[in-house]
Amino acid sequence: MNDTAYAAFHRASIEAPEAFWGREAARIDWHVPYERVLAYEAPPFRQWFAGGHTNLCHNAVDRHLANRADQPALVYVSSETGAEQVYSYRMLYEEVARFAAILQAQGVKKGDRVLIYMPMLPEAVFAMLATVRLGAVHSVVFGGFASASLAARIEDAAPVVMVTADAGVRGSRVIPYKPLVDEALRLAGTRAPARVIVVNRGLAEAPMMKPGRDLDYATLRQAHLDDRAAVEWVESSHPSYILYTSGTTGKPKGVERDTGGYAVALAASMEYIYGGRPGECFFSTSDIGWVVGHSYIVYGPLIAGMSTLVYEGLPTRPDPGIWWQLVERYRVTVMFSAPTAVRVLRKQDPDWLHRHDLSSLRALFLAGEPLDEPTARWIADELGVPVIDNYWQTETGWPMLTLCRGVADLPVKYGSPGLPVYGYDVRLFDERTGEEVGPGQKGVIGVLPPLPPGCMSTVWRQDQRFLDTYFSLFPDRLVYSSFDWGIRDEDGYFTILGRTDDVINVAGHRLGTREIEEAVSSHGAIAEVAVVGVADTLKGQVPQAFAVVRDASVLADPASRARLEAEVMAQVAAQLGAIANPARVYFVSQLPKTRSGKVLRRSIQALAEGRDPGDLTTLDDPAGLDQIRQALSDVAASQP
Ligand code: ATP
Ligand code: MG
Repeated sequence: MNDTAYAAFHRASIEAPEAFWGREAARIDWHVPYERVLAYEAPPFRQWFAGGHTNLCHNAVDRHLANRADQPALVYVSSETGAEQVYSYRMLYEEVARFAAILQAQGVKKGDRVLIYMPMLPEAVFAMLATVRLGAVHSVVFGGFASASLAARIEDAAPVVMVTADAGVRGSRVIPYKPLVDEALRLAGTRAPARVIVVNRGLAEAPMMKPGRDLDYATLRQAHLDDRAAVEWVESSHPSYILYTSGTTGKPKGVERDTGGYAVALAASMEYIYGGRPGECFFSTSDIGWVVGHSYIVYGPLIAGMSTLVYEGLPTRPDPGIWWQLVERYRVTVMFSAPTAVRVLRKQDPDWLHRHDLSSLRALFLAGEPLDEPTARWIADELGVPVIDNYWQTETGWPMLTLCRGVADLPVKYGSPGLPVYGYDVRLFDERTGEEVGPGQKGVIGVLPPLPPGCMSTVWRQDQRFLDTYFSLFPDRLVYSSFDWGIRDEDGYFTILGRTDDVINVAGHRLGTREIEEAVSSHGAIAEVAVVGVADTLKGQVPQAFAVVRDASVLADPASRARLEAEVMAQVAAQLGAIANPARVYFVSQLPKTRSGKVLRRSIQALAEGRDPGDLTTLDDPAGLDQIRQALSDVAASQP
């Protein structure tokens, strides 16, 4: 890496973490000062700001009452119901402290779990903040999950109270939640909570309320109108929440987050990574059910004294200009979304982007999946602001690789999320030998512990599983494994090559699916692609590509398909060599994705190998899988 200002900043964070994070800790309020910045007696377990007492809700809400009581804190917009409401910090305080009093009245104490299964409603944010206000632990479950997934998360957390709503809405379709909740509670048996608070939006038929268990939120709110619960100060390592990973590769893992380290990490990231300033508006298009929602819809912007835009709805309704309309109306300065959403918008008329005054916007951040160069270039050109890729995981809670442009003016390289973020000692390892690899060589992305503040403390109530899952890459050395594969260039910029599960071994050559995908999607006719390794008797594995075509008419015509397949193959061979060439290129109009927008490669691979697609609880739209089946059978039928 060049010896730039950023390199020195990063080096200081690794070589002297206590001095580095000790300075950052001053960004938040401490009720009792910490005794040690880092307690690291039992690696890889560590405690940041040991002995310090603080509270997430205090830092996100109460702390701002002195200077920004009347400033917008939470801006709520639903393009599904037409609701639009601005809550000042004072109003947010009132709602949250009252919600905490309601939870307290239902028996919630420090350390108890509160499960939140909610659509994007202000009450969902109130419930999260109210829970941590009491020192209780929230487990937010994405509102799109069905009963079985919800039940598994109830069983793991054994919550005292659950907070839910009558229904969610997606594309004007009302999805009643309460029947799903009732079924999940039945499945969870003795682990089910004693009380369920239901926010009734009046969207679905009046939900069935079980007497003694189910409580109507509006009634409770009225009964507790003047009640305010005080902040419960907790030790820095006290858990703030449990959150499950997306389940793209297998069974979701219950990530446990601390309190003090998380608050400090988020506060620092708002300046160094996102460049968000107090008083400005931050718009993250994610959902509170995901880690991006926790860190950058709720806690990050509020801790920083910004206003956060909470949006319920699709990016394309009522029209594909809705996000840009909101940017204009609320003078959004920093926006955070996912590549999958940008690909959706790219299919629309670009004019929608130009109808609004976007002069307030300074940058767009994208995370969650690989950001391919054509998508990044398109949106950067359309918006005229930097588009910054950031790579991280539910486990880390905040970015691990990106360009910290609040620290130094680092150039963007499309296709790369950039450099290791301060606090993360990121290395690339040869999985087989355990040796570190140099520039231009592929390897597993690992982090040398101690993990920085904000990263997971453990797997909820399963310390051994934390060690076995994340630190068992090598028998003789503690390394946090990301389960992602990457490569680094001479300037230290990383490129993500795919998940370690997705590495394809073709006749002894190890190829990341991502590199082949990049080569395929650089063909103008291809909008998006998934490459998977398929068992082959001769070569061990061969790559097969499932490509989404821009022009769907190709799908119906075997001759056009064959022509395009030959073109794509020639292109991959030219860019990567014949060894990487997909054995077949199948064409579809949609890929199967998880509810968080990630391609379900393991299910595609299973179908391509004639196996069962496996656990589909996280699948968003079954049509994606049907498309894969159809493409496989079309090609099989046209074989001689
Ligand atoms: P599970 O661990 O349960 O299989 P998941 O890994 O999909 O689920 P998340 O924590 O939501 O759950 O996703 C993190 C993963 O997403 C990363 O490990 C990486 O594979 C991918 N990812 C996130 N951001 C980027 C990015 N900017 N570029 C490439 N890949 C990314
Ligand atoms: Mg993962």
